[in-house]
Amino acid sequence: MAVSNLLKLNIRDPKLKPIADKILEGKRLDFDEGMILYSTRDFPTLARLADIVRERKVGQKAYFVHSLRLSQTNICYVGCTFCGFQRRFDEEGAWDYDLEDVWAFVDNHYHPELTEIHISSGHHPKRKWDYYLDLVSGLTSRYPGVQVKAWTAAEIHHFSKITRMSYREILSELKEAGLVAMPGGGAEIFAEHVRKRIAKNKVTADGWLEVHRTAHELGIPTNATMLYGHVESLADRLDHMLRLRQLQDESPGFLSFIPLAFQPDNNPLAKELNKSEFTTGLDDLRNLAVARLMLDNFPHIKGYWIMITPELTQVTLSSGVSDVDGTIKDERIAHASGAVTERGMTESALLRLIKDTGRVPVKRDALYNELKVYA
Ligand code: SF4
Repeated sequence: MAVSNLLKLNIRDPKLKPIADKILEGKRLDFDEGMILYSTRDFPTLARLADIVRERKVGQKAYFVHSLRLSQTNICYVGCTFCGFQRRFDEEGAWDYDLEDVWAFVDNHYHPELTEIHISSGHHPKRKWDYYLDLVSGLTSRYPGVQVKAWTAAEIHHFSKITRMSYREILSELKEAGLVAMPGGGAEIFAEHVRKRIAKNKVTADGWLEVHRTAHELGIPTNATMLYGHVESLADRLDHMLRLRQLQDESPGFLSFIPLAFQPDNNPLAKELNKSEFTTGLDDLRNLAVARLMLDNFPHIKGYWIMITPELTQVTLSSGVSDVDGTIKDERIAHASGAVTERGMTESALLRLIKDTGRVPVKRDALYNELKVYA
């Protein structure tokens, strides 16, 4: 008898039955099966399957981190069309922190629970390499208990361009300076025809993957994102996930996958598409559930409450998500493109959000070491 029958899954879409059996037997899904997951109208079964896989990986635990977002500059020459964050030097709203400004910013937001400083910024055309090394080593020595999770693969590629050093040399020097992990930004969508349209001057898909491969080889864990809800197709989303899955097979080191919902304000792409609506709740949930089922070698799928709201993030915990990011404190990138959420959240609000679902909150660090279990 099929495993799905044994578990009495009430599957309404017959196309899901063989897929459900594969999932329940722990078998890997292929591209065509992923397309069926994306197109099914039987969302309750999709969510239930993703929840079963989530539970296999983490039981009843749901993770969060005490983090601080640091964007040392919004000056950027790259011109991604979905981005409302970038500024030119002389443009209103531009900022560019010297190291003293960085220390003052972190001092201002520091508290004893702070575990992670997450850094991503614009591609500044004039800053020299020593500045970035001094920034990481300075934060590491000033805040010994705080982990520095810094710079997307796109920024690592930029550093490589300005220094003519290899990815390996750049990452080795950052690690030496104190870098503990990397965020997952800059991935956008790997499919070339979309990337050309939304991020044509950014690191290529192959370059992004090569940076992460190199980081993993050097013992630097990383994360991975995917920007969705703009001009990409569902096939493009799946292609993106499968390329990440392949890299994780070949060179493990990804900690989490974080779908980022397109924010439709203050950016050229929203204007070009005449788009003012956010992704729908069902699209967000479906995307996370498909990710949980396709990325069988990723430890965590993250619901990024900044972009999909805390309320929906709470629901994602029942459709494959095992991590709700964290307190965040001073998010600026998504808000520059229209995010309507707060810029940060208190620990007590996060605990309430998780506990209300029946899950056990776990405070973690940037590497998913468990710091406190709220049993
Ligand atoms: S997304 Fe990043 S690289 Fe692209 S324009 Fe914005 S700040 Fe620059």
